[in-house]
Amino acid sequence: MFLTDLDKTGISALMQAWNEPRFRAGQVMAWLNKGARPEEMSNLPQALREKLAAMPYGGSVIERKLVSPRDGTAKYLFLLEDGNLVEGVLMHYSYGNTACISTQVGCKMGCKFCASTLEGCVRNLRPGEMLSFIKLMEKDEPPKAGCSRSVTNIVLMGSGEPLDNYDNVVTFLKRVTSPEELNISPRNISLSTCGLVPKIYTFMEDAPHVTLSISLHAHSDQVRRTMMPIANVYPISDLVAAAKTYAEKTGRRVVFEYALVEGVNDSRQDAAALAKLLRGLICHVNLIPLNSVKERSLIGATRAHAEEFAGWLQREHISATVRREMGADIDGACGQLRRRVIHEIQ
Ligand code: SAH
Repeated sequence: MFLTDLDKTGISALMQAWNEPRFRAGQVMAWLNKGARPEEMSNLPQALREKLAAMPYGGSVIERKLVSPRDGTAKYLFLLEDGNLVEGVLMHYSYGNTACISTQVGCKMGCKFCASTLEGCVRNLRPGEMLSFIKLMEKDEPPKAGCSRSVTNIVLMGSGEPLDNYDNVVTFLKRVTSPEELNISPRNISLSTCGLVPKIYTFMEDAPHVTLSISLHAHSDQVRRTMMPIANVYPISDLVAAAKTYAEKTGRRVVFEYALVEGVNDSRQDAAALAKLLRGLICHVNLIPLNSVKERSLIGATRAHAEEFAGWLQREHISATVRREMGADIDGACGQLRRRVIHEIQ
């Protein structure tokens, strides 16, 4: 049992089991919410601090931080207690700061353009570990004067497939949105999936206020299968049907991510076919010029071409924008920093 995996109910039960007065649970929780370790919990009696310190903590520490001189985006490499490394990114926007966090060490989905999946999935991340990334970013970049939080938005778009680590991710979402913990609005949170269709249906029941992003990347099964092995399991028609159900059920628009790859999915005909596929669906298309990964041979479209592609979609009345490429100068794309550092260490 890890200390950071306990929510308020769990901490209360622990305090009761240890015959501590009830109010201790609130004190411990307040410290844990700040990312503190037992040694730092200065208003607790020494004996209790020692008992807590004897439990496995289950968090992480910042192993490395790179800041983009271009846009201030901070890329973190977090060291877990078992020696694994995972990435997180903090992006600064006018409305607040968005934390992009990982949900697994590695990934087993095998997308052809992604660095996170090159060595498969090592293990799932636990809720306490995912929470620790947010808390450490907040500790590292405290809120500006007058703001209560520095992390205002979260995207589950780092390494890993969140719906492949379903229970831990749903628990993380419940805790990060809980007023007893980090109290971040679910409306400010997005989960991105490569498209595990049955899990999308359960997810809309379990976390209806979280924005669903679907990594689509192609309008036909034929092309999608060359990029994403998951397309061999679930056809696009089933994926779009799930997106439609989500939009109808939650009243929220679905975001489709579409990474433009030169000569693969970026022609005028591709835009027309994509518009046809998405017609009638409440959605937004996020175009991403593919971030080239050293180990992968695919070439990203230029930003200018991505803008042109967005124009083609907009003319067909499909809402589309080109995603700002943040932190491209600091290995911002999924899995890139982790790989670089692992190679340096080895
Ligand atoms: N597994 C989830 C979330 C992690 S990836 C998913 O597939 O959605 C987050 C997003 O980054 C996905 O849309 C993914 O397809 C995209 N991505 C991965 N590698 C990329 C690269 N090299 N360039 C641009 N986008 C990439």
